[in-house]
Amino acid sequence: MTPTSWQDADQAVIVYTYARYPLMLVRGQGTKVWDSDGREYLDFLGGLAVTTLGHCHPEVVSAVTEQAGTLMHVSNFFGTMPGIELAQILTGNGGLDKIFFCNSGAEANEAAIKMARKYHARKGRPDKYGIVTAEGSFHGRTLGALAATGKPALREGFGPTPGGFKHVPWNDAQALRDAVDENTAAVLLEPVLGEGGIQIASQEFLTAAREVTTEHDAFLILDEIQCGLGRTGTLFAYENYGIKPDIVTLAKGLANGLPIGAVCAAAEAATGLQPGDHGTTFGANPVSCAAAVATLKVILRDDLPGQARSRGAQLLTGLREKLDGHPAIKEIRGRGLMVGIDFHSHAKEVLQACRDRGLLANVTADTVLRFLPPLNVSAGDVDQAVDLVAAAVAEAAGSSRAAG
Ligand SMILES: *Cc1c(COP(=O)(O)O)cnc(C)c1O
Repeated sequence: MTPTSWQDADQAVIVYTYARYPLMLVRGQGTKVWDSDGREYLDFLGGLAVTTLGHCHPEVVSAVTEQAGTLMHVSNFFGTMPGIELAQILTGNGGLDKIFFCNSGAEANEAAIKMARKYHARKGRPDKYGIVTAEGSFHGRTLGALAATGKPALREGFGPTPGGFKHVPWNDAQALRDAVDENTAAVLLEPVLGEGGIQIASQEFLTAAREVTTEHDAFLILDEIQCGLGRTGTLFAYENYGIKPDIVTLAKGLANGLPIGAVCAAAEAATGLQPGDHGTTFGANPVSCAAAVATLKVILRDDLPGQARSRGAQLLTGLREKLDGHPAIKEIRGRGLMVGIDFHSHAKEVLQACRDRGLLANVTADTVLRFLPPLNVSAGDVDQAVDLVAAAVAEAAGSSRAAG
């Protein structure tokens, strides 16, 4: 289809939830994707931190193909091996003790919140249902996850959302300590805000979160849906902080593109959910789980957390060398391969100039140009991306030396 004809067809039959870029993608391989005109792009959006190993990674493709031809779905009335193997890999590598599988990030957070609340209710404390999260956080679009999300605008027109949620200013350890009380069921935080614009939690903030939840017999839930699975330089982002959460949620990059979500829970927290308490038809789907097993094996075997550290440092340093001090830019920040350029102005124009030059990324939190490339991105691809971004900034926001 020509660009206009696919856009017309799209608008005729798809609910207009997404303001799409004027691009239809038809094929991907590694860090590259191609559009319907045959144009090649360097993909530094990574399907929103999903294609951890790049597009169509051969080991994932063959695991999916084989599982799809063996057993595709049976329901959770039966055990299946891919889910067990995936849970073994997760729990053996920092994913706490027990896993609940679902199909997306929002569902993982819903399940984590339900697990925390039901745990306390089961202990005879039905009033201990409060959930404390951070302003600027993003936890998903279902009503419970939306109540947790620290962006009030996203809730507008959808109320009433579930009650019992409190939001504290990001990285304000004292406000967090003050917000937690005997009726708090859990504190839910992202170690690095993703949709919130690549904001890294301070050590003080997460230490306070761990301490205050322990003091009040509440759970610490970390949402690692975007920042987990090696992206910030360790398999679990919490490892950067020397703390241990009670529950971690995963999704996005877990199966390199197939839908999956996971709640990793410490043994005690996991007792919150008992038979009949919660469920999902597609959870632990064998094909998604087989894809995730293959993905995690490559992440661990090839030390992709280490790669994320070195390629991430290269990306951050490269961008800073070319762009620090540019009048349109407020800050360039990141951890591992979660990197953002925070603009005073022109973020969207720079994004479009990147796309015109063959680089895909996105703008989040209005002003932050965000990069979430695959963890196995090559040094050459990172250098190329840095050059493309620098050229895009010069074109769309003026040259730093001349303008500054
Ligand atoms: C994307 C995201 C979610 C929601 O995941 P979905 O799969 O879109 O429901 C939740 N938390 C964080 C941190 C995310 O980045």
